[in-house]
Parts: sequence; structure tokens; C-alpha cells
Amino acid sequence: MVTIPLDKLLAGIGVATTGTDGRITASEARRLACTGNIVPVVLGGKSEVLDVGGAQRLFTAAQRRALAVRDKRCRARGCDMPAARSEAHHLHAWSQGGKTDLTNAILLCSHHHHRAHDDRYLHDRLPSGDLRFHRRT
Ligand SMILES: [Zn+2]
Ligand SMILES: [Zn+2]
Repeated sequence: MVTIPLDKLLAGIGVATTGTDGRITASEARRLACTGNIVPVVLGGKSEVLDVGGAQRLFTAAQRRALAVRDKRCRARGCDMPAARSEAHHLHAWSQGGKTDLTNAILLCSHHHHRAHDDRYLHDRLPSGDLRFHRRT
């Protein structure tokens, strides 16, 4: 379980608190929320629990298989990491209302998945559907 105030999650700043003494950044929390390695507990302004990550946040095994067939590889431009070593990423962040369905999903390798949640980078969608990353200036 990871706890982070909602405004911090949306702003991409701040530090999330894990159940132990570990601390992670907000962007790391968003990436982990994408892959389902953690259960994010989103707190509102007065620390009331707004949402506890549940099944709707996670891509099912069937969805992941369908994504592997569709995307075949990491969809960052020029990356050829195979689907078996890629992760399902929410194009429209789940934390901002993005749905866990195939139209909102894209495969990214671990490296590019980190980049997709790295506030130092922006990305846009090419006509091919691939993501192109560029450093924020
Ligand atoms: Zn992601
Ligand atoms: Zn990649």
C-alpha cells in the first residue's frame, strides 16, 4: 500500500509514503500504479481515502495477451523490446480518470515506462501509434 495526497499525485510532486519506512517519488508512484505492483491509496485534502486501487486499475491477463498481439513490442519509437518484456501503460493516467481498457493501453518496456512517468520528459503520439519522447525544456 502506498499513500499519497491526491494533489501531489496529480501534480507529480511530493513524496509517497509506503507502508514501511521507504519513500518514493510521485512519478514513481504513478508508474507503479500503472503496473499494479502497489495498491495506491489516494487521499483527499483532509486525508480521507478517495479511492483504493482495485481491479479496475489493473489490466487483466486477457487484456495483456491482447496487447501483446496488437503491439508486439515496446511502442516507444525505435525500441524493439518484445512484448514479453514490456508492461501495460495507461495512455491517459488511471489516476486522472483513464480507463483500464485496450484503447487506453500501450506496451512499454521498463526503460520507456519509467520515462513515460518521468516529469522531465514529454511524449506525443506519432501517426504510427508509437510514442516519441523528448526532454522537457
Ligand atoms: Zn504507466
Ligand atoms: Zn522501450
